[in-house]
Amino acid sequence: MESIATPADVDAVLVARLRGAGLRVTPQRLALHRLIAASPRHLTAEALLREAATELPGLALPTVYSALELFAELGVVRRVAAPGAARYDTDPSPHDHFTCVRCGQLYDLDTSAGRAAARRAAEGAGHAVESATVVVSGVCAACLA
Ligand SMILES: [Zn+2]
Ligand SMILES: [Zn+2]
Repeated sequence: MESIATPADVDAVLVARLRGAGLRVTPQRLALHRLIAASPRHLTAEALLREAATELPGLALPTVYSALELFAELGVVRRVAAPGAARYDTDPSPHDHFTCVRCGQLYDLDTSAGRAAARRAAEGAGHAVESATVVVSGVCAACLA
């Protein structure tokens, strides 16, 4: 479900998280965060750099990565390991993914039952679980078509 957020709403979320963590609110962080909010889900740092090229000329890939890592720490996005480049999910809520080994695309999956089973298996082995995600990989429907 997509909610309609104004640029001011989008900024307010980031400003609150940055201030809460004692970090500076910079025009670059705000601009990147706005682009992320307007981007398709599961974006790569390279894709964000391309999006940002007109607004933030001279921006370098390592800067984009560190901004994305910061946003992940702040809980604004979630980093998901995927074949090829890491992808950043603009929906930070817990959910699982199918990754395509051919095109690298990430698809959301509802596997709450599988996630609960994975968690129980880890707990049954005596481990203290902090988070559980399920990643299914293969060739996606789009690549098969
Ligand atoms: Zn694919
Ligand atoms: Zn996702």
